[in-house]
Amino acid sequence: MTPPNSSLPSDIHGFISHDARERFLRYTRVSTASDPSSTTRPSTSRQHDLLSILAQELTALGAHNVIHTPNGFVYATIPENSPHIPFGLMAHVDTSPDQSGEDVKPLLRENYDGGVLSFPDDPTLTLSCEDSPELKDFIGDTIITASGLTLLGADDKAGVAEIMSAVATFREFPTLRHGRIEVCFTSDEEIGHGVDGIDASRLPAHLYTMDGSYPGELETECFDALGVTVEFHGRGVHPGYSYGKMINAALFASSFIAALPKNERPETTKGREGFFHVSDITGNNEHAIVRMILRDFEHSKNLTRLELVRSAAMEIQNRNPGATITVTHTHQYENMREELEKHPAVIERALNAIADAGLSVRRKAIRGGTDGSRLTAMGYPTPNIFAGGLLFHSRREWIALSSMVKAVETIVHLARHHTTA
Ligand SMILES: [Zn+2]
Repeated sequence: MTPPNSSLPSDIHGFISHDARERFLRYTRVSTASDPSSTTRPSTSRQHDLLSILAQELTALGAHNVIHTPNGFVYATIPENSPHIPFGLMAHVDTSPDQSGEDVKPLLRENYDGGVLSFPDDPTLTLSCEDSPELKDFIGDTIITASGLTLLGADDKAGVAEIMSAVATFREFPTLRHGRIEVCFTSDEEIGHGVDGIDASRLPAHLYTMDGSYPGELETECFDALGVTVEFHGRGVHPGYSYGKMINAALFASSFIAALPKNERPETTKGREGFFHVSDITGNNEHAIVRMILRDFEHSKNLTRLELVRSAAMEIQNRNPGATITVTHTHQYENMREELEKHPAVIERALNAIADAGLSVRRKAIRGGTDGSRLTAMGYPTPNIFAGGLLFHSRREWIALSSMVKAVETIVHLARHHTTA
């Protein structure tokens, strides 16, 4: 029998509901924040704590070739029980360094009534439908949050728990048919190093990251990303005796920033709009540096932004004899859309699996990058499937239990759709 809220028979649904919840609660209690200032790989050794738990659990679940590498990966093979096409599943163990991830205390709020949720460890903090309108869609559900002092870590421990729970479900119910599945857990995704040093020989021809948000989401596009550094050179002189001599680099940096379009900033753009973002500024009379990122879904539009940066810099240089301004840039990552369009079956299977889980599909463009965007550029098409969490990287981060169950169901259907026919 299939329960009304599930796409799978009730015994499988019951198993997943319990298993996914228990795993998620267990994994969120392990601190795994990454650290952008670290030079080691992974950036924090605490990420190994969760990686070793996962390696042990995968072995106990009968996975083959389980490897936990010193540079922060766990690889495992789930052997096939049917001649389906192999595919890969990925999630990252680290949590964002933007908010504390120390000593996370996950709280289950059963039978959510649509009201305001409070947090025991910070009475000033609340979570309501005003902060997160999506909460309205989960009345009656179990909502999981942290206790007020930390993020929850659903990004991406929800994805980790869902993949592990799918592995456990395949083991518990061998009637569910699937081909070989390669599982890969990464570290340091939040600081942009998730696939540094990945062993591509362990990866199948295509993969899926479980690292999206609202149930039903499928992300096949991400930003095209440029990193830009603008350096201003002036001439420092004792300020009391500077008449006609000082050339103040710090002032040039500030007029440069003022010349950037105000309606193209992160805080004034959304959807498919791109932006200029000044992420860092340092300097004095002699020398100033402005670091920025340019983002858009179209590379050509980002190049136009780069031209605007150059001409704004040139104009200041021309107006101020003695000033020297240089602009350098790097192409950080590219939109995965074009590469993914060459592999329509990869997208189609994900769309069918989401629909089979009883969800309406939401195609979304990621206003950022994922492990998948870099893997796609490396020739391994990797769209991003929802994992269920909302308000990522904040102390209000939350997830509904039913979203995790739906994500596991989606993986079960995804495996079934990997037939050659
Ligand atoms: Zn993530």
